[in-house]
Amino acid sequence: MAESVTNWAGNITYTAKELHRPRSLEALRGVVAHSDRVRVLGSGHSFNAIADPGAGGVLVALDALPAEVDVDTAARTVRVGGGVRYAELARRVHGHGLALANMASLPHISVAGSVATGTHGSGVGNGPLADAVREVEIVTADGSTVVIARGEERFGGAVTSLGALGVVTALTLDLEPAYDVEQHVYTELPLAGLDFETVAASAYSVSLFTDWRAPGFTQVWRKRRTDQPLPDFPWAVPAKVALHPVPGMPARNCTEQSGVPGPWHERLPHFRAEFTPSSGAELQSEYLLPREHAVDVLHAIDSVRDTVSGVLQTCEVRTVAGDAQWLSPSYGRDTVAVHFTWVADTAAVLPVVRRLEEVLEPFDPRPHWGKVFTTPARVLRGRYPRLAGFRALARELDPAGKFTNAFVGELLAD
Ligand SMILES: Cc1cc2nc3c(=O)[nH]c(=O)nc-3n(C[C@H](O)[C@H](O)[C@H](O)COP(=O)(O)OP(=O)(O)OC[C@H]3O[C@@H](n4cnc5c(N)ncnc54)[C@H](O)[C@@H]3O)c2cc1C
Repeated sequence: MAESVTNWAGNITYTAKELHRPRSLEALRGVVAHSDRVRVLGSGHSFNAIADPGAGGVLVALDALPAEVDVDTAARTVRVGGGVRYAELARRVHGHGLALANMASLPHISVAGSVATGTHGSGVGNGPLADAVREVEIVTADGSTVVIARGEERFGGAVTSLGALGVVTALTLDLEPAYDVEQHVYTELPLAGLDFETVAASAYSVSLFTDWRAPGFTQVWRKRRTDQPLPDFPWAVPAKVALHPVPGMPARNCTEQSGVPGPWHERLPHFRAEFTPSSGAELQSEYLLPREHAVDVLHAIDSVRDTVSGVLQTCEVRTVAGDAQWLSPSYGRDTVAVHFTWVADTAAVLPVVRRLEEVLEPFDPRPHWGKVFTTPARVLRGRYPRLAGFRALARELDPAGKFTNAFVGELLAD
């Protein structure tokens, strides 16, 4: 490419030979039909080479296409274009008095790219963001559009697709009436005696943060829907001031806390759309594991806390309800998701990631598809019981492997 294109974190430079920004669906179809190897670049917030087509391939960004957000208030659905980000989607949906069921920690990410990697927020009753998708429109290898709707057998592979089926040009999502949320933040939750199930279920969305410098959590964020009760929380200390989950970062980058109610899209993400999310100089990893093992998982991490804390900015523990997307890291099991925001130093972080994967291995961890991991593809294949179904769907829609890259090719190898 004439100028180098990197991901948001700057740790990946895409090796594609060209980056296309088609301005119309017709132009997009042309790029796809006339290229041998294509991958879509969403908002580039993944921390690995999942989006890179490789040296001979082309990257396609959808941000020059019309940013469609068509709300159907009667049906309570929205049809959203493939390049649209959650911040814009949420603003438009809220303008119609409607809401999404959940959001990730930041609204800066594209909807299509997020659901493609199984991106999630928190809440024992909340599945990943892909749960909201009822229909997906995909420009496939020959440039034609395929529409796959909830209820069809192949829908199980169609949403959390790692970009391997084609270019997602639109998604239709479920909405519900708009609601308000309050954020209540606490400090000092010990790991000893943690009743994880009760804590995780103590609000609509709950996140625990720790720097693993001690066996416990430095912050607990409880996001309460104001139409739901908020049980007492005797295990931790209410925060006196607003906090950022990364030590040393300003709390004004975060959505409002202190129990002040506000619209769902200004409370469910941790980070405000108009500021840099998280710390901005970082790598991330995340492992999704069966929730029933949550306490054992946390103790296993605590056993290597000295190793982990040396390269850690913050660790966040969330929950995700099991879902039905074949390649979703929360497929088929209620999940505890343990996330790590590392320092921005790949050489220092990778050995720690390997050590962490060793201690988590007995719990059948599925790494987040968009973050740093070292688990080989042959091991991951054994962790996805419906992988063969996905492989068959990819071959049906993309027989020549136009949307394959090294990342996906290794995973889907026989
Ligand atoms: C600061 C920060 C905070 C984060 N917080 C969370 C969090 O709270 N929860 C969580 O689960 N994850 C989180 N993530 C990870 C992030 O949600 C995922 O990496 C997500 O995939 C990013 O979306 P994107 O549009 O940037 O995707 P990209 O990185 O651009 O692409 C991801 C994949 O999707 C494919 N893709 C993108 N658009 C399309 C399309 N239109 N059609 C077909 N394929 C497409 C790409 O080819 C690629 O394979 C965070 C990341 C950052 C940087």
